[in-house]
Amino acid sequence: MLLRSWGVSNSIDVKINTTDQKGPFFDPGNNTAVFPHPSQLPPGTYHPVQAQKIDDTVVHEVTHGILRGVNEKLSQAITSGDPWAKALNEGFADAMAVLYSEKFNPPGDTKVSEDLFKNQSDIRDISESKTFDDFVDSTAPGMEHINGQIFGNFIYRARQQGLSIDQAAKVLIWITSEIEPDTGLIINKTDEKDIKDAIDFISSVDQAIGAILDIVWGQMNGYEDPPSGGGGSGVPFAPSFVTGFFTGCYSNIYSLYSNSWGSSSGASSYQVYYSTTGAGYIYAGSVSFPSTPSYNSVDAYLKIKACNSSGCSALSASTFFQPHLCGG
Ligand SMILES: [Zn+2]
Repeated sequence: MLLRSWGVSNSIDVKINTTDQKGPFFDPGNNTAVFPHPSQLPPGTYHPVQAQKIDDTVVHEVTHGILRGVNEKLSQAITSGDPWAKALNEGFADAMAVLYSEKFNPPGDTKVSEDLFKNQSDIRDISESKTFDDFVDSTAPGMEHINGQIFGNFIYRARQQGLSIDQAAKVLIWITSEIEPDTGLIINKTDEKDIKDAIDFISSVDQAIGAILDIVWGQMNGYEDPPSGGGGSGVPFAPSFVTGFFTGCYSNIYSLYSNSWGSSSGASSYQVYYSTTGAGYIYAGSVSFPSTPSYNSVDAYLKIKACNSSGCSALSASTFFQPHLCGG
């Protein structure tokens, strides 16, 4: 939906009010977080609610997309049903949902999707103590959520040990990106330097999730055309820099990038523009944070406009070039 033009698109799509007769889920084939209509949610398990309006449910589902996006081998292991990979996928998605709640809502809520599930027993709580010794090597349905609590509690305990919300989110993504499903959980033992590297490397995971949530709200309210005009006294300056980094390949086809730019004083949103040649930039979408993930199937150049109710700046002088590094 957003950021799609000339072979460039945002990394995660969202579908709401679908007719799937199950709870919210992430569809890796279409890279889409799916929120079925309230009437389609199995009534024994779920309240008949618009699940795309529940923050931690949304963050849980889009985190599945992010986790798969940063480690293709892990994504394949999840799809093939590997119990460890599935547990990490569920537990880290729960942990990210709780981190998001902690960041933007009153702290202390360590439960996930309590507004969605009817039965207390279905509500996961990452503060519940679980260790790797509790792992059950089973592919039975639902086991991924029970084993997943090991990974959820891992992040909870890291927070208890003094990691900030942002640090915990970054470490979570870094661990996911480093895991080798074939040779063990993590190739080299994690030490303090690794964690510092991870924090430096992943600069804006929480903001990226904010931007993704913004896309969800945009989808619910219908697509808005970009504001036109500009040039008034209240128009913000263009971002002073645009940057980003390659985060990996997806499906051997797409080159994934995490993009960010300097926030502009007085801006309420940013417009993202792409070009495949370095000229003739095309509007691709709007985000409210100064960052966005994207994926390419071709080389692309990225420029940004800063916007508010008075209009939008000119395109940034700075350009971020995204070479297409994956597949053909
Ligand atoms: Zn899940």
